[in-house]
Amino acid sequence: MTASLPSFMQDHEVFSAALAAVKTLEDWIRLQREWFDTANWPKKTSSQLAEDSARKRNPLRLGGREWIYTSSVYDISPEARYEYYYALRMIGAPLKFPSWKSSPKSAELGWRQECPFCEISTAEIGDPICPKCGRKLVLTWYPD
Ligand SMILES: [Zn+2]
Repeated sequence: MTASLPSFMQDHEVFSAALAAVKTLEDWIRLQREWFDTANWPKKTSSQLAEDSARKRNPLRLGGREWIYTSSVYDISPEARYEYYYALRMIGAPLKFPSWKSSPKSAELGWRQECPFCEISTAEIGDPICPKCGRKLVLTWYPD
C-alpha cells in the first residue's frame, strides 16, 4: 500500500515558490487554504495507528540525545509529512505567534526538536540536523 500524494507534493515546484513568498499571516492563511486540504487527506485506520504505537513504544538514543517517536494521523508519504509539518511549524507558527522568534528555545518552555520524516522528537534542544536522515529539524512548541 502506498501513501498518497497531496496536491502540494504533486505540484511541488509551484508549492515551494508559493511557500517561499509567504511573508505575512494573511499570506500564510491563504497558502494553507489553497494547499493544505487536510480534511480530504487520507487518515490512518485504527489498526494502522495501533500498529504504529506498538512499533514506536520505546524511546531511542540517537546522536547522543534521547528521542521519542511521534505519529501523524495522516496517511501521507514521509516526504509529504516533512514538508507539511515543516511549513506549519517553521513558516506558519512564527507568523501566528508573535513571540515565536524571541522565545528562548528551551525544553522548560515547551520546545522540542522534531523530524516529521523520521517521526522522532526530542526535548534535548541542540544540533539542528536530524541524526537519522540529515534533514533540518523542526522546532515545535507545546506550551501548557
Ligand atoms: Zn529525520
